[in-house]
Amino acid sequence: MNRCPNLSGSKSLKISIASGKGGTGKTLVATSLAVSLADRGAVIADCDVEEPNVHLFFPNKQPLGKKECEVPVPIVDERICTHCGLCSDNCAFHAMAVLPQKVLVFQELCHGCGACALVCPMNAISEGRRSVGEVFRAESGCLEIVWGDLKPGEARTVPLIRSVKDEAKGDVVIVDCPPGTSCSMVESVRGTDFCLLVTESTPFGLYDLNLALRTLEMMKIPQGVLVNKSGIGDRKVYEYLEKQKVSLLMEIPFSRTIAELYSRGIIFVEHMPEWKERFAALAEKIEEQIA
Ligand code: SF4
Ligand code: SF4
Repeated sequence: MNRCPNLSGSKSLKISIASGKGGTGKTLVATSLAVSLADRGAVIADCDVEEPNVHLFFPNKQPLGKKECEVPVPIVDERICTHCGLCSDNCAFHAMAVLPQKVLVFQELCHGCGACALVCPMNAISEGRRSVGEVFRAESGCLEIVWGDLKPGEARTVPLIRSVKDEAKGDVVIVDCPPGTSCSMVESVRGTDFCLLVTESTPFGLYDLNLALRTLEMMKIPQGVLVNKSGIGDRKVYEYLEKQKVSLLMEIPFSRTIAELYSRGIIFVEHMPEWKERFAALAEKIEEQIA
């Protein structure tokens, strides 16, 4: 649990920061919002477990611990297996192959559903565990940072994302989601009170924003939009938001200073305190929308 108390008296709040595509400034927004809400006991959860980078913005962080994220995997006792093939036939994920003398389990494909053990007539399958990655926790001042790091070559992001979210406990939780609208993004957004979509005012930005909004509508997650690098591109995103009646909650203008700070791994609100106030006001707007 984050050690800095929430003195504001505000209710707990879970905001996910997502974007239909990479490179829109999602992490810039997530880190800026988290730093601006640190005095409310904020925790930032980096759910982009294939490429976690939030923690890199906090070079002076103090480690709080780490743990393995384990998932179930079948273990076949070859001494009693009759190689009947039922387990392989019933694996919906094609994670098993039964050869005349050997049962192969393709661990990266296995979803740990347990169906193979249920159908085995010899009770030859028991449950083992394997690690898909690690969850790290650290603190930087009043802010807690939680992130997951998927093992190289591992495909199962969802269990690790769940572990990151489980570890991120605080009065205010900011979830930095993976880009796109894949199951990793869906799992990251799931259970949050509000999703802030970060976009840019370009044709690509509009196309991916539309996909992300459709996904959130299906999930019934309240949403709003932040346009990053405003002032470049065209007005189509703004027209679209107006037509769809989606709230435009904030704009960050295209700025060489912000881009340079970001490229040096510096959270720009630390150098431009007026933006901290704007991000705190953004959180208040979000709370109003949720209410
Ligand atoms: S179902 Fe059981 S007995 Fe049949 S091949 Fe699989 S592990 Fe062996
Ligand atoms: S646990 Fe499920 S996914 Fe894994 S090998 Fe068995 S049936 Fe297939």
